[in-house]
Amino acid sequence: MLKKSPFENYLEILSDSAKILNLSDAVIEKLKTPNKIHQYEIETSTGKKFNAYRVQFNNARGPYKGGIRFHPEADIQEVKALAALMAIKCAVVNIPLGGGKGGVQCSPKELNAEEMQDISRAWVQKMAPFIGPRQDIPAPDVYTNPQIMGYMLDEYEKIKGKSLPGVITGKPIELGGSQGRGAATAQGGVYILLDYIKRIGKKPEDLTVAVQGFGNAGYHAASILHSHGFKIIAVSDSKGGIYDKKGMNPENIFNGKKQFGSIQDALQAKLDGKICAESTCCSPDFISNEEILEIECDILIPAALDGVLTIDNAEKVKASIILELANGPLTPDADNIFEKNNITVIPDVLANAGGVTVSYFELVQNIQNFYWTEEEVQGRLKNIMLTAFSDIIDFSIEKKVTLRRAAFVLAVQRIVKAMELRGQI
Ligand code: NAD
Repeated sequence: MLKKSPFENYLEILSDSAKILNLSDAVIEKLKTPNKIHQYEIETSTGKKFNAYRVQFNNARGPYKGGIRFHPEADIQEVKALAALMAIKCAVVNIPLGGGKGGVQCSPKELNAEEMQDISRAWVQKMAPFIGPRQDIPAPDVYTNPQIMGYMLDEYEKIKGKSLPGVITGKPIELGGSQGRGAATAQGGVYILLDYIKRIGKKPEDLTVAVQGFGNAGYHAASILHSHGFKIIAVSDSKGGIYDKKGMNPENIFNGKKQFGSIQDALQAKLDGKICAESTCCSPDFISNEEILEIECDILIPAALDGVLTIDNAEKVKASIILELANGPLTPDADNIFEKNNITVIPDVLANAGGVTVSYFELVQNIQNFYWTEEEVQGRLKNIMLTAFSDIIDFSIEKKVTLRRAAFVLAVQRIVKAMELRGQI
């Protein structure tokens, strides 16, 4: 069966929400169509050429907001889908921003540091007329990071001839980044998970967790959940994973990965006697990235790639809760199977919205030139995440729909209302 593109998946859930909201064809057409697509060829000083994009999907609720992805598969279709989902995500958590996304179709692993800097600056040289703190605010995404944001900010301010830190978020703290941005995506998801398990009468210490992906989202999620008493029984990165039903300490795994390159290499080093037992986890087994999705656990957290849970493996999932920290880890077919099997899916547009929420805080702090403490950031993040979750869970109970459907319907309703008030529809 042909795999649906991320944009086709967006259209499917949009049409589902449109039916529930009884939207007209003209309105649906507007929600399917990006406002603007900017597309250029950019070149490094070594003469390598790449396609560069910025898709500005919808700004009815505020300036466009969304990351920039450097990846071989970051083509216009993928960037368009991610831009649409950013508009939905900002509306889900009810922050005054729209949706956009950028990309450069390149293989970062084949580029050196200078070429990465060249690409970052070249992207800004082309996009500078279209971005700005009150226009469109990019941020990091796959294979872009605070350092890349630093180069981009520098290039933008050089072009504009003034200080404008709010043009980009996810910056290093020294350049106007926000406290709490590093762990924000995972932290936002954890606030929701803690609230959800309280609602269903469960306690962290009685629940086991498996996390696929051990980068920004996955590592921080494992670490924060461990600190709340959840038992982390399996984690993986791109090379594969490890499993221990007694539970593991994510900090030890992080240190082992840092020293040996991957989670499994760290375990192998321990088995070979190259590191002492304390510097890694207890006595885990190797597990593949496919197996981790199907192991016996209470909570499964896909925090790496999109499309990993499909019609082929969804029936084999044993977790009762899935927290989608990655963007789009489930196909719509898998989603239907989880609904049938009474598995609760906390959808990506809510579960990982902590990242964009703290990006919004960063923008606010930059505009005010007044900075908040970590406690202030956490308090505001918790408030926004729990308010959004409460709205969604109430709607899902009232209308007897999944959390994903409830989140989409509420978000589409908010976007449509803003477009109506502007007289656009
Ligand atoms: P990252 O690059 O920091 O980490 C990705 C992790 O996934 C790495 O540990 C990598 O080894 C692992 N990985 C790669 N291929 C894998 C595979 N085949 N199987 C298992 N693991 C694999 O990226 P991140 O920022 O943590 O993002 C992860 C996901 O979360 C993405 O879908 C991203 O769009 C989403 N997300 C991240 C943020 C954020 O603020 N970081 C915000 C919203 C959504």
